[in-house]
Amino acid sequence: RMTTISILGLGAMGRALAAALVNAGHDVTVWNRTPGKDGGLGARTAASAQEAIEASDIAVVCLLDDASVRETLAPIAPNLSGRLIVNLTNGSARQARELAKWITGYGVRYLAGGIMAVPFTVATEGAFILYSGPRELFDEVAPALAPMARPQWAGEDHGFAALYDMAALSGMYGITAGAHHAIRLVHAEGGDVEAFRQDVLRPWMDQMLSIQIDGATPSGAIPAEFNAQMQAVALQTMIDNSAESGVAETMTGHLSAVLWMMRRSIENAERNR
Ligand code: NDP
Repeated sequence: RMTTISILGLGAMGRALAAALVNAGHDVTVWNRTPGKDGGLGARTAASAQEAIEASDIAVVCLLDDASVRETLAPIAPNLSGRLIVNLTNGSARQARELAKWITGYGVRYLAGGIMAVPFTVATEGAFILYSGPRELFDEVAPALAPMARPQWAGEDHGFAALYDMAALSGMYGITAGAHHAIRLVHAEGGDVEAFRQDVLRPWMDQMLSIQIDGATPSGAIPAEFNAQMQAVALQTMIDNSAESGVAETMTGHLSAVLWMMRRSIENAERNR
């Protein structure tokens, strides 16, 4: 018998997850607070959150935020002893730990997760989902949940999936800030935005991505070979250039953050000399 799976929450992500499991041949039951979101999925519909959790071997929760999960599970938690719940709702590491402590207190077998995908990349090659909590629970659910995205264990600490998710998103948003600023700057000065995007920005980012990731430090200290002194001068020029081009100061925050790290690295290097 194939593992039965319930999905609680049919937002953009919950629907994508449910569709991936249905496509893989699983018997899927769905529930959503607002009815009528289950159209075209080919899944069974449960009338309540409790019914959905009781209907399957594994219940996957994918709601808006920590508060919505609490609101959904609080009234039924005492009835859920022995159930296996995998919560993929975004939250902070602290929220993930507190939720785990609370729900396992009712005898729920619990994994917390972080989805490293967007709805349209679910069930595609690069997508993965982080899971944290007891290793044996991960081993139990991973084969069944694999059709959603490659399962990756993040450790016993229930907060780690959220922690790694948040930290990875920080990396991504650094790129978001840089890319938007770059395009805006080229546009403001009358440059060829599309040529710049394809022939300059993309190959430059490809060349630098691994170097930046490998060079990142917990303290923000810049490794010596990156020459913080030279980069601090260049960063100030970039911030000034942005102002000269009339690009709002609010779009150079990422440059200011890196400039601050460069200056601190210079100070530390001088202090240690
Ligand atoms: P949506 O806004 O599309 O859907 C939100 C879902 O949460 C709906 O099913 C909604 O139900 C439900 N919900 C909200 N509040 C409550 C509540 N108080 N009680 C019960 N249900 C509630 O969001 P997504 O599906 O895109 O995202 C879901 C989760 O996945 C989020 O935590 C998000 O951070 C995470 N995620 C999303 C990604 C994305 O790109 N979309 C990427 C990675 C993670 P209703 O229909 O009744 O309003």
